Amino acid sequence: MSARNIAVLIELNKGEVAPISFELLGCARELAKSTGGEVIALMLGKNLDALCPALAAADRILAVEDPLLATFSPEPYLQVLENIVRNLYRRNFLQEPPRALLMGCTTIGLDIASLLAMRLDAPLITCAKSIQVDGDRLKVVCSLYNGKMLADAVVSGAPALIAILPGSCREQHKGGTAWIEKIASPIPLQPGAIAFEEMIWPEAGDIDITQQDILVAVGRGMKEEANLELAEELASVLGGVLCASRPIIDQGWLPSTRQVGKSGMTVKPKFYLALGISGAPEHIEGMKDSGLILAVNTDPNAPIFEVAHYGAAADVLELVPQLTEAIKNRG
Ligand SMILES: Cc1cc2nc3c(=O)[nH]c(=O)nc-3n(C[C@H](O)[C@H](O)[C@H](O)COP(=O)(O)OP(=O)(O)OC[C@H]3O[C@@H](n4cnc5c(N)ncnc54)[C@H](O)[C@@H]3O)c2cc1C
Repeated sequence: MSARNIAVLIELNKGEVAPISFELLGCARELAKSTGGEVIALMLGKNLDALCPALAAADRILAVEDPLLATFSPEPYLQVLENIVRNLYRRNFLQEPPRALLMGCTTIGLDIASLLAMRLDAPLITCAKSIQVDGDRLKVVCSLYNGKMLADAVVSGAPALIAILPGSCREQHKGGTAWIEKIASPIPLQPGAIAFEEMIWPEAGDIDITQQDILVAVGRGMKEEANLELAEELASVLGGVLCASRPIIDQGWLPSTRQVGKSGMTVKPKFYLALGISGAPEHIEGMKDSGLILAVNTDPNAPIFEVAHYGAAADVLELVPQLTEAIKNRG
């Protein structure tokens, strides 16, 4: 197998490079170490110059500009990506097609992944959590049934299209040679049947819990809304923020942006402290990949202890103030 380069489809969000793109670049850098190839960032949009420096983890950045790419719409994106992967690599930019094209398992990634795979007659793996190079093949671990099962997939065709779940890879912001080539769309673009009209963002003003290193999560074991102050103070001395199980959100004690789990956010902080949370599957789904999980629950048989690295069978209302005090005293 000659293909060595790993391409990454860069996602843009509110005119910035979206966090998933840095995760994809991190994954691509690791793969490129094994294949001996380069990391190629493919960025589609308009007025992209200012965004290129953010992609310093790539070896090459191909920025394709066209008014029809100014905001994401599936058809123009598909037309450009198909053309680049089929032709441009061989003609101008690089001598060979990429070994893999990584994209986010996100709304944008999933909107185009299967159609692009069909047009390129390329293999596609979605919901990927990790990828390894194994000789001529790529070994991919992917998540099934909302994370209840993991499957090993092996792919040998190139390019392989792989959609990676957010939170699966370490972000990378530098490490490449970041050689930039800017081009107009290689083909005249057609708008397609689906036209972008407007991006509707969630309410502004709250913290993005998916981007935090330290999360203190509160559940029904906190008993009363007023007790959340105890957890808030602990979060503050730890340098983290509060998040919660669904019942806390349903009662209006915290905004919905703080909910972790199946119908909330999937988080992967370095440290997740679960206070009075039972560990229902719908909650676990959103936090099980956290770096270090510490759970406090009066019930020693609570399911949360099955995913926690450390646990304390204790009353949160007694333990939390003591913990806060002890951390404060350490200075
Ligand atoms: C379709 C669907 C989607 C869902 N989505 C989500 C979701 O996104 N996120 C989510 O969290 N849930 C979700 N749920 C709800 C989920 O099933 C659970 O009901 C919920 O996670 C339970 O929250 P909890 O752990 O805070 O409460 P409980 O399950 O009531 O647990 C409270 C825990 O606190 C402990 N406790 C009590 N007092 C104390 C004390 N003083 N000190 C220490 N521990 C104490 C108890 O032993 C108990 O284990 C969903 C459910 C469905 C059906």
